[in-house]
Amino acid sequence: MSVNQHVRDLWIAETAQRAGYPDLAAFCAAHGLKNYRLDQLYRAANKELLADPEAVTVLPAELRARLMAEGFSFDALEPVTVQKSNDQQTTKGLFRLTDGSEVEAVLMEHFGDRNTVCISSQAGCAYACAFCSTGQAGFTRHLKASEIFAQARYFARHLALQGRRITNIVFMGMGEPFHNYDAVMQAVGLLNDPHGLGLGHRHITISTVGVVPKIEQFTKESLQVNLAISLHAPNDTLRSEIMPVNRRYPLTELMAACEAYITATNRKVFFEYIMLEGFNDSPEIARQLAALMRNHLYHVNLIPYNSTPDAPYAGSDDATIRRFASVLDAANVPNTVRHPMGRDIAAACGQLRAQTQPRGATP
Ligand code: SAH
Repeated sequence: MSVNQHVRDLWIAETAQRAGYPDLAAFCAAHGLKNYRLDQLYRAANKELLADPEAVTVLPAELRARLMAEGFSFDALEPVTVQKSNDQQTTKGLFRLTDGSEVEAVLMEHFGDRNTVCISSQAGCAYACAFCSTGQAGFTRHLKASEIFAQARYFARHLALQGRRITNIVFMGMGEPFHNYDAVMQAVGLLNDPHGLGLGHRHITISTVGVVPKIEQFTKESLQVNLAISLHAPNDTLRSEIMPVNRRYPLTELMAACEAYITATNRKVFFEYIMLEGFNDSPEIARQLAALMRNHLYHVNLIPYNSTPDAPYAGSDDATIRRFASVLDAANVPNTVRHPMGRDIAAACGQLRAQTQPRGATP
């Protein structure tokens, strides 16, 4: 059976472009490549997870040598630094793209049970959330689908060496996925392709600051991909203070889009809520949040904040987080307190890149 041709052609075209070809047709013409050769290349890279064209032994030796010589590389990025947390459960990579921009991706191994990879959709971010290291550094550029996918390929290869695989992908790295909508959806296609990585849609989560028209567009896709909203505050005054996007799409519009998503899909919506000391962590604010979370398919993830030198916020302490959660419990709002991972390696969004590319630095 032939691989999913649309996804395959997209990946090969972008890979060929990095080697200097204008498009897929030019690449195929230069090497006299037939359809089955494209299948072989795509499968070798994304299902068998081979290192490079040289390793694809089903290809003629001469073709392999030419592909290597012209820089047709399976990897859209290369690792700059890879660090493991002290408990060995979190591995954070800083990667350099071909134009020198840098992005982060993180592997979280939950005691060998789930292997979740958090990936970036943009270099930098345009949304300027006050507490976020990436947001404070500003926007560099959108990633292409193959560059988003390459972060998963890197960790898939890393895990494969131990006979293990990625079980979940979250778009919670750098960037705003719904600001780079088309490439993110293409990357979802690549991640999902059973002839490649083969990750089920239900194992993929897209997290957004709340770009309402894109939530509406995503609703129409009718995919089983999970939707997470970075809420962080239950009223417009507080939310606008830390998330400029709220001035454009205030809570009534955001919540209406979430309601419409549930009506159309009958799927849960996850709300991320980082706990900022003295800002959004009081019982009164918990009650406001509970009042907003009126749909039984809403789920709140309370996230201990990783403080960063770029932002003037501190995380709430454990007792405050527990008290906040108990208000939600009392109001029957499903919630989970997220277990912080990788704090010793600056694993929160944008923190590692901030160490190598100081604010305002252009790659
Ligand atoms: N732009 C998207 C996805 C990237 S951020 C979004 O905003 O949802 C993924 C999550 O990490 C968001 O909920 C974001 O608010 C949160 N985050 C950012 N900086 C953080 C930090 N220092 N500690 C904890 N969570 C953080």
